[in-house]
Amino acid sequence: MAHSSNQTVHVVWFKRDLRVADHAPLWHATQAGPVWPLYIVEPAYWQQPDTSLRHQDFIGECLIDLDRALKKLGGGLAVARGDAVATFESLRQRFGAVVIHAHEETGNDWTFQRDRRVRQWATTQGVAFHEYPQFGVVRGLTNRDRWASQWTTFMKKPRYSVPDRVQCPELPHGVSDPFREAPCFDQTPTPLRQPGGLRAGESVLTGFLTDRGFRYRGGISSPNSAPTAASRLSAHIAYGSLSLRQIVQTTWARQEKAREAGQTRWRQSLAQFEKRLHWHCHFIQKLEQQPRLEYENMHRGFDGMRENDFNEAFFDAWKTGQTGYPLIDACMRSLIETGWLTFRMRAMVTSFASYHLWLHWKETALYLARMFTDYEPGIHYNQIQMQSGTTGINATRIYNPVKQAQDQDPDHHFINQWVPELKQGTYTSPIVDHQLAQRLARERMKAFRHQAGFRDESKAIFQALGSRRRPTRRKKKTTIDKRQASLFD
Ligand SMILES: Cc1cc2nc3c(=O)[nH]c(=O)nc-3n(C[C@H](O)[C@H](O)[C@H](O)COP(=O)(O)OP(=O)(O)OC[C@H]3O[C@@H](n4cnc5c(N)ncnc54)[C@H](O)[C@@H]3O)c2cc1C
Repeated sequence: MAHSSNQTVHVVWFKRDLRVADHAPLWHATQAGPVWPLYIVEPAYWQQPDTSLRHQDFIGECLIDLDRALKKLGGGLAVARGDAVATFESLRQRFGAVVIHAHEETGNDWTFQRDRRVRQWATTQGVAFHEYPQFGVVRGLTNRDRWASQWTTFMKKPRYSVPDRVQCPELPHGVSDPFREAPCFDQTPTPLRQPGGLRAGESVLTGFLTDRGFRYRGGISSPNSAPTAASRLSAHIAYGSLSLRQIVQTTWARQEKAREAGQTRWRQSLAQFEKRLHWHCHFIQKLEQQPRLEYENMHRGFDGMRENDFNEAFFDAWKTGQTGYPLIDACMRSLIETGWLTFRMRAMVTSFASYHLWLHWKETALYLARMFTDYEPGIHYNQIQMQSGTTGINATRIYNPVKQAQDQDPDHHFINQWVPELKQGTYTSPIVDHQLAQRLARERMKAFRHQAGFRDESKAIFQALGSRRRPTRRKKKTTIDKRQASLFD
């Protein structure tokens, strides 16, 4: 059925929010008139060096589920290929009058610039473009002091329900091989990747809050226990197949139940989990305020520190798991196959690349972005900079990969799975000496930290981006570094 009336069509631009529940743009659009649910495959985006097949595959599974969910409501999903502005312009010509509804996105620089272009085009054409927040991230934030309470207010708001009906001006043609004309930068297959989609997301959340979450406390550091003890919600949050508010509210309800039932272990686990749901937005907020964190040191006093020392051979050995440090190599090899690592192992492999191998974080960050199915720029670049020592507001933490192996994989279960040649006696020797490399790194860092004006810039960074939460332990050591370190250990 062709669109014949002169009614305005409300385009819902799905981006990293691939769901129908608690979806502000979809809700508002359906209240306003006929709706055109749209996902745009942008070939230029997929050429960016932080994109990969695992991202596309996960998104592809989400799109299939989203289309199915929209069909149940009487609509469907339209998938367009090409530039976003050109797509909106062609929709404007096709439907006459359009209004665009989308979630705010804190993405990489490419999507940041793309959104600016879309906004500019909309203004020039007189097209209304409504953007709605989907996280506790505040656009245009000027004062960080009240951020935590704003987060809570956002999370407490009632969720948007699934609309009763999605009435489209024509029947969208649906999803079939969406990325066929948009090859991505990295084509590495991920045979053990976790599946995407709305239903997969719901089942991961339910499984975590009814069963697996019991083991969260104490279970999320070791690569043996973490794949089932951690929530595994990251990719669903990153692509929005679940709403963060749904996760937070369901967790609060589960916490209440655990309190009533006197389930101490559950309570402790859920408290730790809930803290990380704050961190999610806390880190994205930083990139929202300072998009330059994707490609510049948070503390500019570190500029010039690693730029001229990039060792390609070290980089290759690190990427492919050939460093001679069994836990590092096991992590890097497993990452290629599974697309996921637990927090501590992500921190350790980053610290090893940045301190032991003295590789600039820009290249390692891009590689890990491609390898993590759950790539979320706001969390990613901030964490990378923290683990590389370039924030100026966190303690320098250099992981000892030998000690980590003893602590986190004492029986070599994980290591034997991914580095079988260790047992066979054919394993490569270490490419750097841990003690020497970490001492050298500390000396190099110190030289930069002792430059004039360094502390003043640290204070300014803390004022703009630092967490205002107080540590519960070690209260006496109140330097900026220690306050932050105790929060994120
Ligand atoms: C170098 C490095 C890069 C990282 N890059 C990413 C990334 O691209 N995308 C991503 O989602 N996470 C990233 N993290 C954070 C963290 O490692 C992952 O969120 C977590 O391992 C995902 O597994 P999970 O969902 O089971 O986590 P859980 O422990 O179950 O946590 C639940 C949710 O809380 C959030 N979260 C957890 N830990 C953190 C943290 N330290 N900082 C901010 N938010 C957190 C995530 O949304 C996560 O899904 C990175 C960490 C490091 C050290």
